[in-house]
Amino acid sequence: MRPRLPFLSSLYPFARRFSTVANLPPSSVNQYDVIVIGGGHAGSEACAAAARTGARTLLLTQNLETIGELSCNPSFGGVGKGVLVKEVDALDGLCGRVSDLSGIQFKVLNRSRGPAVHFIFFLLLLLSTHLHYQGPRAQIDRKLYKRHMQDALYSQPNLTLRGANVADLVITPEDGTDIGAEGGRVGTYGRVRGVKLESGEIVIAPNVVITTGTFLQGEIHIGLKSYPAGRMGESPCVGLSKSLQMAGFRLARLKTGTPARLDGRTINYVGLAQQHGDVPASPFSFLHDSVPFEFQQVVCHMTRTNSETHKIVMDNLHQSIHIRETVKGPRYCPSLESKLMRFKEKQGHTIWLEPEGRYYFLVGEECR
Ligand SMILES: Cc1cc2nc3c(=O)[nH]c(=O)nc-3n(C[C@H](O)[C@H](O)[C@H](O)COP(=O)(O)OP(=O)(O)OC[C@H]3O[C@@H](n4cnc5c(N)ncnc54)[C@H](O)[C@@H]3O)c2cc1C
Repeated sequence: MRPRLPFLSSLYPFARRFSTVANLPPSSVNQYDVIVIGGGHAGSEACAAAARTGARTLLLTQNLETIGELSCNPSFGGVGKGVLVKEVDALDGLCGRVSDLSGIQFKVLNRSRGPAVHFIFFLLLLLSTHLHYQGPRAQIDRKLYKRHMQDALYSQPNLTLRGANVADLVITPEDGTDIGAEGGRVGTYGRVRGVKLESGEIVIAPNVVITTGTFLQGEIHIGLKSYPAGRMGESPCVGLSKSLQMAGFRLARLKTGTPARLDGRTINYVGLAQQHGDVPASPFSFLHDSVPFEFQQVVCHMTRTNSETHKIVMDNLHQSIHIRETVKGPRYCPSLESKLMRFKEKQGHTIWLEPEGRYYFLVGEECR
């Protein structure tokens, strides 16, 4: 483990001992080459990639049912991000293939952009042979994506999937000192040897990959309410945050906004601009020539906010703690209220209404 900051025990009120394996009877120890913690996008790719190399790999994730869950708007790709999906696919990764199987609208963004955009991307193209200046993007059926991702992982040789909460890292100090523990030598770091589960069970591996996404000491803010959570309806992961803090890593917050989900049957689509998928659809994966739902693609709709919308939002800012700048750090998706505050001069902002699946009617609004 490579800490980024010197460890100062006085700054860490949660100081405690790391789990160690020294006193455990061998029979209680499970061993793997690689443990991946977390079955989101990153963890799914990481455990499959490790297993493909022949490593005996264990994926530990809070709930097997949520492997491959799409946290925000169910979409893949776009300008910039589409390139990443293609690159993951070129490395034999899963998300491109799984997106092709579960995509319900495929669209190459920027097709109509003019020569200036093309020239900039052409320059970038010279730097990377993989770079696509247009952005392949797909709207995904949430449930199908999860199902196909789980199928892919369950059928991956060398990979074991297990639902369990990781509570701590097992770290042995290189000089035999207890790291950061009271009386131990503060500032001494060690090697990770495995993980300790909430049940107390220890699982051993010389390599541990942490892909816990938004769960590390996560919080949800809705209106004026704020409560600990990893994602909507899921518990945060607290133990591991403390372990990382103990090991000298600096913890900071990451903030994202997500729009309200609407029942699609309650929306009046009359007068909204329609966006149809491309036919033929461009698959993400180099292994696919076509996608299953090419001829049954859903329609997305586009609308814009106006001065009336802006007034409603601005008059109600006091009802949201999300916009208070108490949290400093990187952001993902800005909320509509953040955009209105930041770009006061703009008369309107684009709103996309995008279905979350083929057979159910939740619609998310996305800023692309
Ligand atoms: C409401 C919302 C909106 C978002 N909007 C965007 C956006 O617009 N753009 C964007 O790029 N990103 C957005 N994100 C972030 C999004 O979570 C990440 O981009 C993406 O999901 C990260 O993937 P991941 O694999 O790193 O983690 P996640 O998908 O968060 O998966 C983490 C996994 O780790 C598991 N886990 C956590 N702790 C433990 C533990 N101790 N033991 C075992 N398992 C554990 C969880 O159960 C989960 O399965 C948003 C997130 C949320 C919640």
